[in-house]
Amino acid sequence: MQDILNEIAKEMMAIKDKGKVASYIPSLANVDINQFAISVSLCNGEHYHAGCANTLFSIQSISKVFTLTLALGKLGENVWHRVGREPSGDPFNSIVQLEHEHGKPRNPFINAGAIAVADLIMQGHEPKETLAEILQFIHYISNDDSILIDEEVAKSELATGSRNASLAHFMASFGHFINPVDKVLGTYFHHCSIAMSTKNLANAGLFLANNGIHPSSGYPVVSSERAKRINALMLTCGHYDGSGEFAFRVGLPGKSGVGGGILAIAPGKASIAVWSPGLDIIGNSKLGTKALELLAEKTSWSVFAK
Ligand code: GLN
Repeated sequence: MQDILNEIAKEMMAIKDKGKVASYIPSLANVDINQFAISVSLCNGEHYHAGCANTLFSIQSISKVFTLTLALGKLGENVWHRVGREPSGDPFNSIVQLEHEHGKPRNPFINAGAIAVADLIMQGHEPKETLAEILQFIHYISNDDSILIDEEVAKSELATGSRNASLAHFMASFGHFINPVDKVLGTYFHHCSIAMSTKNLANAGLFLANNGIHPSSGYPVVSSERAKRINALMLTCGHYDGSGEFAFRVGLPGKSGVGGGILAIAPGKASIAVWSPGLDIIGNSKLGTKALELLAEKTSWSVFAK
């Protein structure tokens, strides 16, 4: 595995066209595009890394996997009254379907869906309390208590978040919101601003690769049924209007973020995190996808073949 990761890292470093870093906020626009990291945490307890696997980056929409997990834990199947489970085929911040579908977002991984999920997990609490809960959960599943929110990123998200605010207010106009819109947005912007390394993320995803069970403690984070469902949503919706392409090329459930990270799950085998800040036109990590494609090829990991 170490040889495979070294090879992939070397190959990625040599590629000239790395895509484009997200430019909507300075803290993402200023990230050095030449960085690359890959981490693999195997279900048997082994860990492998290549590149800058300890460097922290903004996990952005990857956080939506963790907030969905929390929401399902708190509300169970009732989550699906607020958000759907269908791919949107639209960009992550699109508003078009919301009007036709009466303020119910297609899935929990597009922005509207994740904002609705943030509303669900707050349950009348203040954003601070909800964020503490999200962080505590991430600390536990990553085995790392030092993971924090990057306040600089959160401030910029808020300052440039007109589209997300529109999505939230539009949904609220249908009478769906439980908490004040501004507080839900505050929670959403902050959980997108959590900073993690690929090492952290690969560990955090292990329960999804391991039938819902946290491997080092043996504690069931979610039921195996639920882990299976979260993986299904990652596969069908985790890359927005690029989800079909990701499934075709990589063949594993994955969730991307505009910070350039991708968390991918090889059920029964491993949790994988990659980071390369350059994005394709859809907003998914260009080399991150390529690296996962190579890894899947070299390991034969796929949910579509044995
Ligand atoms: N914070 C970003 C946004 O809300 C997250 C989007 C993403 O990572 N795709 O626009």
